[in-house]
Amino acid sequence: MINLPNLPFADNALEPFISEETIGYHYYKHHAAYVNKLNELIKGTEFDKMSLSSIIRESDGAVFNNAAQVFNHTFYWKSLSSTKSAPSGKLLNKINDDFGSVEVLKEEFIKAGSTLFGSGWVWLVREPKGQLMLKQTQNAHTPLSSNLVPLFVCDVWEHAYYIDYKNLRLKYLEEFWKHINWDFAGEAYDKTDNHVFIGTEACNDIHDPFCEILDDLQNQDRVTS
Ligand code: MN
Repeated sequence: MINLPNLPFADNALEPFISEETIGYHYYKHHAAYVNKLNELIKGTEFDKMSLSSIIRESDGAVFNNAAQVFNHTFYWKSLSSTKSAPSGKLLNKINDDFGSVEVLKEEFIKAGSTLFGSGWVWLVREPKGQLMLKQTQNAHTPLSSNLVPLFVCDVWEHAYYIDYKNLRLKYLEEFWKHINWDFAGEAYDKTDNHVFIGTEACNDIHDPFCEILDDLQNQDRVTS
């Protein structure tokens, strides 16, 4: 049984970037529907007692789609903040090393978001050797399936922005950039910043630092049921 985590902010906290009306659909209808559908599909199956990350790794078809969308949305809400923040510390240094500057990362992020055809997600991820990169995933696809550690994600399905921006995805992406929760991204980076990072495939291994991030998300699931 997977629970819908609470939003990490009030329903109207992100206005005018994301309206309370959008939250009403995106969180209370879409995200909740993925959780409900997933629970319906896994009831009485071997997935029923698994963690969300294990279900994502071991399923396909409708179970995968709904499980991945539950994770992707939880991660999206975590990626957003009503308070302005900026990259700092080790993450800032790594952005400068791998992209040249925060400004270049921003330009490439907006380009990745506006060129993703159809529905999907744009992620800042770390690959197993530590390199930062932007990653587009289609539909429900998630970096958890490919040994990549997500640091933040932007939902570019139309349901994420259509009420507030209509067809103007570019405008939504520019506003998203101003509302990234860099404290969360920095924390995710720090937790996975070591020389023995072995990738998310080994998440059952307690030495995989990314397990901590998933555990945080899942512990939150448990207390908010
Ligand atoms: Mn969505």
